[in-house]
Amino acid sequence: MLTITLDLKDGLARLATGQRGCGRVVRRLPGPTSVKDAIEAAGVPHCEIGRVVDDGGGARGLEAPVADGDVLAVSPVRQADPGDARFLCDGHLGALARLLRTLGFDTAWRPQAHEAEIARRGLNEDRIVLSGHRALLKRRELVRAMLVIDDDPDRQAAAVVRRYGLASRARPFGRCPRCNGLVSEVAKADVAHRIPPRTAAWLDVYYVCADCDQLYWEGTHVTALRARLDRILDGT
Ligand SMILES: [Zn+2]
Repeated sequence: MLTITLDLKDGLARLATGQRGCGRVVRRLPGPTSVKDAIEAAGVPHCEIGRVVDDGGGARGLEAPVADGDVLAVSPVRQADPGDARFLCDGHLGALARLLRTLGFDTAWRPQAHEAEIARRGLNEDRIVLSGHRALLKRRELVRAMLVIDDDPDRQAAAVVRRYGLASRARPFGRCPRCNGLVSEVAKADVAHRIPPRTAAWLDVYYVCADCDQLYWEGTHVTALRARLDRILDGT
């Protein structure tokens, strides 16, 4: 039996299960284990673990073994490399997927996808997996992932933008929120038969999704949506 103490820094305790914001956790472990497994057992998936430092000031790797009496200060990930900024949302994060697509980010989402499929697809397609399920994020094969704990889709999207430094890479209305296809402008004459007459009378600019052929235009609701996207990108 080993006893270690984890000092979860800077809000990381919010991610730990049953911690209620208290950062210091004493863990009793039945046998030798890695730093990664010891922290994950407290409810923090490895994708959220930043720097780990022992009480002597030495950095610890996630695969290093823990020793009895260890006191480990654990910092959260602050900024992560977005790579190509391609995402994969778990089945419960449909609203987040639609928002990220509206911000122009390539975001896959299938409501019935199960854990193994999400993990495999994230790896095969080099997508960052976004999920609220700790069990999914603890899977060893998941390297690029983020735990989404907020219930509000706007705050979820703002957290993703912050973590991956995406504000300047957004292309609002660049992708179809329904299917993730690329959206581009189309000549009004080519879609005239699909435009409601009252809309056609006052609008000349239309867009269409390359994948599902959904027609879009900048109706009155777009002003409010644009302001909402700006707030997400500003992190407010
Ligand atoms: Zn579409």
